[in-house]
This record gives sequence, structure tokens and C-alpha cells, in this order.
Amino acid sequence: MNNEKYIREDERTPEDLRDIRMEIDVLSNANGSAYIECGGNKIIVGVYGPREIHQKKYSKNYGAVLRCKYNMAPFSVKQRKKSGYDRRAAEISKLITEALKPCILLEKYPRSSIDISIEVLEASGGTRCLGIVGASLALADAEIPMKDLISACAVGKIDDHIILDPSEYEDNNGQADLPIAMMQRSKNITLLQMDGKLTHEEFIRGMNLGMKGCKIINDMQRELLIKKYNGGIE
Ligand code: ADP
Repeated sequence: MNNEKYIREDERTPEDLRDIRMEIDVLSNANGSAYIECGGNKIIVGVYGPREIHQKKYSKNYGAVLRCKYNMAPFSVKQRKKSGYDRRAAEISKLITEALKPCILLEKYPRSSIDISIEVLEASGGTRCLGIVGASLALADAEIPMKDLISACAVGKIDDHIILDPSEYEDNNGQADLPIAMMQRSKNITLLQMDGKLTHEEFIRGMNLGMKGCKIINDMQRELLIKKYNGGIE
């Protein structure tokens, strides 16, 4: 398929991300926070910690415990979503925790917890990846030591074309969905999921496109942090 000439339902080329707006330090009561808008998504993230914990079940933990909770508000989708923690939210919370863990220096904070709340105010495809992007920014805003920033974005397949950052329509009507999260400096991939079917060649092309998307997002994250905390000096 000629990917170059394919124009998507929202007029993007296959390699375009949706417009993204990121902010940090948006909540006054959390230690760190971030807000992300991308397409029709609106996501806010708050980080609390590191805080001392005394629960016995964590007493053998070598470093800090990372606890991440992803939640979609009932008004985040067109048909009111039942409020509460469902199986999808539990799965996404777990995979976001695992995606973030490798970049945080948890060993610096024994007997402590770092809690991340990801609240999806409006959802429009790609919320797990944007949640990771927001969490990474909020952790930096909380001045929690990290090896690197984590960036994330998904790749999809629709009408036999490989596309970057699927919209909700493309997510629901596509042939495959491949969310990726990665640490930019080490190029370590910390999340890789796949729904649907891709050939080996499409998978490789999709991974390369997804990594390109992560790099663009990482540049935006870095630029935002540099502007906010370093007066624009690298
Ligand atoms: P992601 O948001 O990470 O792409 P999914 O693939 O599970 O996760 O969901 C794709 C999109 O489908 C979501 O971003 C959201 O727009 C929509 N969606 C997910 N769950 C629901 C739900 N319970 N009700 C309505 N829409 C939903």
C-alpha cells in the first residue's frame, strides 16, 4: 500500500501525531502534576511522594513502592461510563506502573511510596500512552530522580496503512493497535502491547514509526521542562 498518499479521516498523513499541548505544575496540592491535551483527549496527572509508608506488606521492599492509578471519569466518553475501578483501569494502571518503574531511581527512597493518579477527563484514543507521557512529566515536576523521561505513543493499522497515533475512530475501526513507551536516551522499550494482526514487515515499520513519534513527544517534554525550570538553558 502506498502510505505516502493516504489521508486519514482527520486529514492527517500516516506519520502525523495529533496536536499536543502539555503543561506542568497545574495542581497546587500535589508534589508534581501535568496536564495533557491531544486530539480529543484531556488528561491530568498528580504525583504524591516520596512519602513514608508503614504498611507491613511493603516492609521488605528495597526501594520506594510505585503505585499508579489510571481512572476514566464517567463524563470522559459519549455514553456515560460507570464510575469506579474496572478491569480495564486495573490493567492499564498495572502496565503504566511497569512502564514507568525502570526510569525511576526507586532505590533512593526505602520505606516510601510514590503515588501517581492519572485522571482521564476526556478520552479519544491513546489514553494509556498519554497517561504515561503525563506521568513522566509530573514525576519530573515532583523532582523525583529519574534516569530518563519516558515518552509513549501508539501506532495503528487501518485500511492496510500503518499510521501514527490512532484517533478513537481509527482505534475502534482499525486492524491493529501497537502502544509503545520508551526511554529516549537508552532506547529501552518499557511498554509494548499489540492488538490485531500485523505482518513482520508491518510490525518493524510500525515500531520505527512509533519510535519516531516517541522522539517527537520526548523533545516536547524536554522543551517544556527546560523552559519551566531552567529558564530555557539546556
Ligand atoms: P487507549 O485509550 O489507551 O487507546 P483503549 O484501546 O482501551 O485504550 O480505548 C480506546 C478508546 O476507546 C479510549 O481512548 C476511549 O476513547 C474509548 N473507550 C475506552 N473505554 C471506553 C468505555 N468504557 N466507554 C466508551 N469509550 C471507551
